[in-house]
Parts: sequence; C-alpha cells; structure tokens
Amino acid sequence: MSIIKINNTQEFQDLAKASSDYFVLDFYADWCGPCKIMTPIFERLSLAQEFSEFKFAKIDRDQNIDLIDTFGFHIKSIPQFVLVKFNADGNFSEINIIDYLGGTQSKTDMSLKLSELALNNNINLTETALNNNHNNMHENKQKVAIIGSGPSGLTAAIYTSRAQLDTTIYLGLQPGGQLTTTTEIENFPGAWNPETKEGMMGPDLMSLIQKQAENFGAKSILDQVTSLIVGKNTYGKPEFTVKTSASESKFDAVIIASGASARYLGIEGEEKFIGKGYHSCATCDGFFYRGKTVAIVGGGDSSMEEANFLTKFAKKVVIIHRRAEFRASKIMLERAQNNPKIEFLLFKKIVEFNGDKKVESVTLEDTKTGEKSDFPLDGVFVAIGHNPNTEFLGDLLDKDNAGYLIPQSRIPQDLKTSKYSMATKVEGVFVAGDVEDKTYRQAITAAGDGCRAAMDTEKWLEEIS
Ligand code: NAP
Repeated sequence: MSIIKINNTQEFQDLAKASSDYFVLDFYADWCGPCKIMTPIFERLSLAQEFSEFKFAKIDRDQNIDLIDTFGFHIKSIPQFVLVKFNADGNFSEINIIDYLGGTQSKTDMSLKLSELALNNNINLTETALNNNHNNMHENKQKVAIIGSGPSGLTAAIYTSRAQLDTTIYLGLQPGGQLTTTTEIENFPGAWNPETKEGMMGPDLMSLIQKQAENFGAKSILDQVTSLIVGKNTYGKPEFTVKTSASESKFDAVIIASGASARYLGIEGEEKFIGKGYHSCATCDGFFYRGKTVAIVGGGDSSMEEANFLTKFAKKVVIIHRRAEFRASKIMLERAQNNPKIEFLLFKKIVEFNGDKKVESVTLEDTKTGEKSDFPLDGVFVAIGHNPNTEFLGDLLDKDNAGYLIPQSRIPQDLKTSKYSMATKVEGVFVAGDVEDKTYRQAITAAGDGCRAAMDTEKWLEEIS
C-alpha cells in the first residue's frame, strides 16, 4: 500500500466521498526534524502486511490550516498521526476521527496503538499481527547497552527505555559521572529553584535523571565495562557483547557515553601524592582543608568554580595559571576575582611536589623567565581538563589526536559510512557526550547528544529489524 498525499481541502472532501476506509493521517511539515524521523516508520507501517486494512496519507500541516479547521482536527504539534474513518458520503466531522496516535514514537509503539484501535473498532487484523505486536512489546524487545551514567548516558536511557527498547545502563564506578563531583549546577535549564534562585546540586540532578530513566524501565548495573566485542547473531545482524569483571551480556546496539576523567599534571613522581595533598576533585576532598592554604591549577571554568567552592573551607585559595589569559567565562572569572579569599599566581606552573608523607610545598617555575621558587601550601587541586574514557574500546573506533571518539557528524561527507550523526564506523555502536565532545562539554549539550544518540539507535534498530 503506498502513501497518498492529500494536498488541499477539496482533495480531502473527495476522499471522504469516495472512500469507506480507515486512514492513518500523518500531519507533518517539511521543516520539522521529528517529522523527518517519523517518515520511514510511517512508510514501513504502510507496507506492513498486518496493517493492510488501513490506508495511509500525508497532509502538510502548514499548507492545510483550512482543512484542519474545517474538519475539526486538533493538531497542536507535529508530527501528529490520526486514525480516521471515511464513510463514502462526502461528510467528515470530529465523529470520523477515531483517535490521535501521538507524535514521535517507535514503530513498535505505533503498531501497538494501531492494533489496539483495530481491536476496539472491530477492524480485522490478522492473528499474526496481534501476536507480533504483543511479542514485540513484551518478549522480543531489542536490547540496548548504555555505557556511562552522566547526562548523556542517562538521557539516552530515558529515550531508549521510553521507546520500549530493553535498556541496560552500565553506571561505571562513579554513577552520575563528573557532575557528581561538582556543586551547584546553575545552567541546566529547569533544574533551578525560583524561590532560592539556586540551581540543583550535581549529585541530586544526576540521581533524579537516573530515577527518571529507571521509571521507564531502564536497568542499572553498578560496574565498569572492561571490553566491548562486536559479533553477529544467528540472523547475521550485529550483536555486541559487553563485559565487566563480573558479567557478560549481549545487546543489539550500544551507546558509548563513558565521558572523560580528570587529567593530572604529569609531573614525575606525582602519583605518590595523589590523595595526599594532591587532588582532582574539590567537591570530594575540599572538606579536608578547613583553615588551610590550597592551590588550584588551571584557568578554566572548573578552576574558578572549584576555587570559589574551596573558600568555604580553606583560609586562602591560590589559582596557579601558566599565562594571564583565561579560558574561564567572564562571570566565573569575575566571581573568583571578587572573592577576597582567592589570589592569582600567573605565569607559573608546578614542576615538583615536595613533602614527606603529603604535599608540603610545590616548586613553581615562571613560564616567562624559567625562574624557580618554593611555594608552601597544604593541598593542590588540579582543574586542567579531562581525558576521554575510551581504554576499554581498544582500537575498535576512530579517535582524534586527543583520544576523543569521532561520531559520523564530524566526518567529512565523502568518508561517512552511516547516515546517523551519532553513529560510529561500527554499525550499531553510537556515541554521546564528553567521550566524543571536547568543545562544549556541558551537561546540557551532553544530554542533547544522548538524546540524538538514542534516537539514532532507535531508528537504526527499526531499520535492521
Ligand atoms: P578548560 O576550559 O579546558 O581549562 C583547562 C585549564 O587548564 C586551562 O586554563 C589550561 O591552560 C589549563 N591547563 C591545561 N593543561 C595544563 C597543564 N598541563 N598545566 C597547567 N595548566 C594546564 O577545562 P575546564 O575548566 O575543566 O572546563 C571544561 C569545560 O567545562 C568548559 O567548556 C567549561 O566552560 C565547562 N565548565 C563549565 C562550568 C559551569 O559553567 N558551571 C564549570 C566547569 C566547567 P591554558 O588556558 O593555558 O591552555
């Protein structure tokens, strides 16, 4: 059954006169991204044997406002799918509208809704159609592994579990990712209290998003993935084995959202001081420096934020930065500059940690003159960026020179191997968040990436099923 296009009110009227069929109408617009996503799903439903009792038509919402008003459709957003019944009498009003099927959704969801409506309206679907849909929903769900539980992974999990995909989130050893080591999140839209004018705390936000995903059926595993193995299932389709130290499970698709980890300075002998006066997470360890002098290394937003945070405990916080220009945003920099407990040491870098059992001082080198000096302090926090967490992947996927994974959206047109922007060169493996984004690295951009990766995964699974 091919899809017809209804171009105007007259054509709709003519159909109402000529047809006594059930029609699924797709109200769409050319500019609408979600409408484009739904187009192949709509096409596949129209070709499905089990829905041969239905006919399918598309109506351009923007070109047909009159039609919508005249026949009593309520189209508040697009895409919107509507099941109607014509009576071959030329009349059409709201009583011919059987139900609104909703907007963006998986093929499984739409099939189920159509089957249910068919049952309720005594439309004859084949037994197979009903069984297929039942099985799809309850037994043969496609399985998706999400590796990582920061904003990208958890957002992906909300989308895949809502799309009725059997979703497993590998939380890693730091559930919630980097945001759980931060304090207040002021720039995540909606996570803000209008009375106190404060954002949510990072750990609270992440645990809320995890609960949201679990509410839709996602399962969480508190373990770190040690390897991802690509194979084929008995039908010759991609199959992925995700291994942790304690488990081994198979999936139909994988979203890698393993994020990035704090970078250390790389100074000889630094390992011995990690956790003993040398830290990468102020929120985790700042508490231990009540009344002490601490340094933060770096000139980005993280160092400004952590410096401000540390002033809650420390008597003095020194920002050590290797130049006089800052990557930090103006607002964060000014906040640090205006804090009386914060001092700036510019054109300096740490070249040595000194101390017996813990850091007692650092040797600083002037980045202009090379001159060295000893600087006594109680603790050093680094905030100099992150390394993407990709070791468990070996050489499976393409990485840039900094080790970040490269999604198809960043590959030149002629070298692309997939039409899905968050796909990788391995079919069925998608990426999202800080593990592939070294430019924006915001919770909200990571969440957006997670959404894109999940929608790509869903579409790809539909395509190969
Ligand atoms: P960043 O912006 O990349 O800044 C890293 C800083 O570390 C730079 O000043 C860099 O110096 C310095 N650095 C790097 N390697 C160094 C080394 N080996 N020795 C000494 N200094 C070194 O990283 P970030 O501050 O972690 O921020 C990452 C992203 O997260 C940014 O997009 C940021 O806006 C965002 N963020 C936002 C918030 C917020 O809005 N609440 C909070 C935190 C982070 P140079 O400048 O000289 O290269």
